[in-house]
Amino acid sequence: MSEPEGTPCHRILVIDDNVAIHDDFRKVLMKRETADSALEQMESALFGAEDEARSAVVFEIDCASQGREGLEMVQRAQTESRPYSLAFVDGRMPPGWDGIETIRHLWQESPELQVVLCTAYADYSWQEIQSVLGQSDSLLILKKPFDNAEILQMAHALTRKWELNREILGRLNKLAFFDQLTGLPNRSLFMDRLRQTVDKARCYNHTGALFFIDLDNFKRINDTLGHNVGDELLKAVGARLSQCLRASDTIARPMEKFPMAARLGGDEFTVLLPEMGKPEFAAVVAQRITEQLSKPLELGSHQVIVTPSIGIAIFPQDGEDVDTLLKNADMAMYYAKSIGPSAFKYYQESMNAVALKRLKIENHLRKALDRREFSLRFQPQVDLRSGQVRGMEALLRWHNEELGEVPPTEFIPIAEESGLILVIGEWVLRTACIQAAAWLKQGLDLPRIAVNVSVKQFSQKNFAAMVGNILAETGLAAQQLEMEITESLLAQDLPEVLAILHALREMGVRIAVDDFGNGYSSLYRLREMPIDCLKIDRSFVGGIEGGAKDRSIINAIITMAEGLDLVVIAEGVETDDQADFLRSKECSQAQGFLFGRPLTTSQAETLLREHRN
Ligand code: C2E
Ligand code: MG
Ligand code: MG
Repeated sequence: MSEPEGTPCHRILVIDDNVAIHDDFRKVLMKRETADSALEQMESALFGAEDEARSAVVFEIDCASQGREGLEMVQRAQTESRPYSLAFVDGRMPPGWDGIETIRHLWQESPELQVVLCTAYADYSWQEIQSVLGQSDSLLILKKPFDNAEILQMAHALTRKWELNREILGRLNKLAFFDQLTGLPNRSLFMDRLRQTVDKARCYNHTGALFFIDLDNFKRINDTLGHNVGDELLKAVGARLSQCLRASDTIARPMEKFPMAARLGGDEFTVLLPEMGKPEFAAVVAQRITEQLSKPLELGSHQVIVTPSIGIAIFPQDGEDVDTLLKNADMAMYYAKSIGPSAFKYYQESMNAVALKRLKIENHLRKALDRREFSLRFQPQVDLRSGQVRGMEALLRWHNEELGEVPPTEFIPIAEESGLILVIGEWVLRTACIQAAAWLKQGLDLPRIAVNVSVKQFSQKNFAAMVGNILAETGLAAQQLEMEITESLLAQDLPEVLAILHALREMGVRIAVDDFGNGYSSLYRLREMPIDCLKIDRSFVGGIEGGAKDRSIINAIITMAEGLDLVVIAEGVETDDQADFLRSKECSQAQGFLFGRPLTTSQAETLLREHRN
């Protein structure tokens, strides 16, 4: 039948063995002018005026003369996603199922279907009906002979009820399967889709991809700008993600072939690309997602930039089951993060070992302080002319029973990422100060103790106060403590960091810039910074014998430091030639294997004693 576009249409099924009755229903339900308007008048008299769209309901009537036939029609309607909202079912339909039996089958197929059981007076008792069908609010009984208005009323009321039920179900569904903040599918819906898709891919030899996406600097934005801004940001990311995926698929495809984005929680998102043809296609999509997400975002009065790190697992090759796939995509994401920001990486089998080791290190690291697994080594810093020890750099060592000796270059980044560096760094500082104070008390000559400080430690508001406390506690003079910071800390240009540096400087603590020369510091910034010393990165010193380039860089650093009135320490000096070159360029101090390896406490003490004598 044809109806005006946009008019709500409800499908009604009449099941009755008497074909003449089919026509009666059609006449009553499809005669819109007279019957509908009569009913509308009645409705508006009872319930007040309805909106236009509602009152213009159209019914589409289908008929069956046996229960089985009716069931088949309901099944077909379900698979076509055009379900019936209401069925009128006759009580007696020989030779087939009676009304109650028919309804029982219909509800198995379509539990939301509203039903009117049409009976002659003595057909069934209400108890009988309930004993077979249970208690249901989807069933009404209509006694024969019918009144046309009654049928119409029932049709309107019950189809409306069916519609409202569907709406409520839809909303509940949304609560259970969608993330409330972004509106994206949640973990449980995503995992379900992933499971189906992976099964299918295995069956039909398709290739698909799973992305694990994590935002690089979300935590910082959340911590500094507040959770409201954080929430807005996640919403915006969700919207951009869906937009990317929509754009990637303009050709009409069946639903299950569409890419899907989801939010797993926090700042973790996933994307499912069901059928890609080639694994390389994932890189194109990852690239597009990265570009879109990395565009600046206006959130209230702030402009923020977030970048994603993306791990890609291809299925079925990278995992037989969804948990493995997700774990592998997550692992690839870790990798991307380590080379990032805004990088993506395909999962590779070799990642397993490394990622596992990383996790292991982090777990052991958590217990390392309590287990007293840390110790310090001290490397002398000497005057290049006189050979005198001008200071010692404290270098952290970690010995773990299972992992053995883990080098700081391996565990410090993990300590930084996990936040453990805060307590570890405090331990290093306190231990180094205690040691230096003890040596001084013994009358040994140690002008300064140098301690490495991680960028992360500068995010603690009370950092300068903590340093002050440790100095007071240990009795070490502030002038004898030098903190080695990295060039990247200066480059960040954060007012908080600058305030801490000034506070330390005011206390008298000296500041050295470690590994100088790699971090693109501008001269202007260096002049503005409260620093005392530049440590020339070991890579330049190592290149002294190799070529003119490194030599001229060293020369430039020394000249510049002189102009800015800064002390220079050359790091990693291993040969006499290197020392000679540095001396010829008036570099004042040096540190390296040539003058002494990092020493244990007692070795360092011996060295200091020798020097005194
Ligand atoms: P760094 O602060 O630049 O320390 C100098 C590193 O160079 C040390 O490595 C030292 O053993 C090594 N070294 C010294 N002289 C020579 C030489 O002549 N040749 C060569 N090839 N290497 C030399 P180490 O002890 O493995 O420390 C590595 C890095 O770990 C340090 O670099 C520092 O950035 C970090 N680190 C060490 N201890 C701590 C700490 O307590 N806190 C923090 N945040 N970082 C630390
Ligand atoms: Mg250092
Ligand atoms: Mg260094």
